[in-house]
Amino acid sequence: MIKVENIDKIYGRFKAVDNVSFHIGKGEIVGLLGPNGAGKTTIMKILTGYHYPTHGTAMLNGYSIYDDLLKVKESTGYLPEMAPLYDDLTVIEYLDFMADIRKVPKSRKKEEIDRVIQECGLTPVVYRGIGKLSKGYRQRTGLAQAIIHSPDILILDEPTTGLDPNQIIEIRKLICDIGREKTVILSTHILQEVEAVCNRVLIMNHGKIVAEGTPETIRDQVQKDDRFTIEVSGLVDTNVVKALEAVSNILSTESIDGKTVIKISAPKGNSTGERIFDWAVQNGLRLSALVPEQTSLEDIFRKLTNQAGV
Ligand code: ATP
Repeated sequence: MIKVENIDKIYGRFKAVDNVSFHIGKGEIVGLLGPNGAGKTTIMKILTGYHYPTHGTAMLNGYSIYDDLLKVKESTGYLPEMAPLYDDLTVIEYLDFMADIRKVPKSRKKEEIDRVIQECGLTPVVYRGIGKLSKGYRQRTGLAQAIIHSPDILILDEPTTGLDPNQIIEIRKLICDIGREKTVILSTHILQEVEAVCNRVLIMNHGKIVAEGTPETIRDQVQKDDRFTIEVSGLVDTNVVKALEAVSNILSTESIDGKTVIKISAPKGNSTGERIFDWAVQNGLRLSALVPEQTSLEDIFRKLTNQAGV
């Protein structure tokens, strides 16, 4: 559905997108995740024909951005970061206008407008001026214009920016619903968005894709070792703790509320959990907890993009 091959985008002397390639199949919702300035919007503008790449190619729905731009535009719906709304129009006037712009045949126009009003939950505000809508309804209206011509591909640039938590949940649900029938690429710098909405993520930094996959596969690629927190009742002799070094690296040892809490890391797939049980039995210790620790997606994102915070 979307095929991007070796795209560069150079603004003046600055390379905003650096040799990016990816494929997105039918029915996928893919998140383009990255810190500010990573190049997400630039890629979306290339996919929607607002910018040409300096090098490389992109095909959408089988159409080239160079040779079939009109077909590309027919196949895609785009919701830019700032939805292109006209505050003086009512919702229905705006959708009627956008249906004309998107060349929806006159014979189908009413049906299509009714469909997007329904799909985007706009019924209560159909006759309200866009300038008087809440941010949530503005975003719904933006989504409605993006799908008015029934595109196969939907491109959404930071679709939940500026919304309150309830509106965020509603818009994410709407994207999931729409995404069942379409191919969706959405940009975000919110990790929870990716986990809530996307089947797959492309992580960008400084114009490059630095990781790709499901959150789980990315975690697997980045996390090189297994980590455990071991809790043992009572105090544990230093030499006994040291014996754990045979199976792992000891990261820390603490006494908390009459328990010894030991954090360790060990090479993946080394039956470390079983070895820890053996160690406890051999030393007559009572394990009160053995917890495998997963690196959070936040930590992975920080590691890949060298961010101090997200
Ligand atoms: P954000 O999350 O802040 O929207 P982004 O990942 O979408 O960031 P882009 O908007 O694609 O990033 O910008 C990538 C880089 O290219 C940034 O350093 C930006 O300043 C630069 N850039 C974007 N558009 C232009 C332009 N028209 N001319 C020059 N530089 C640009």
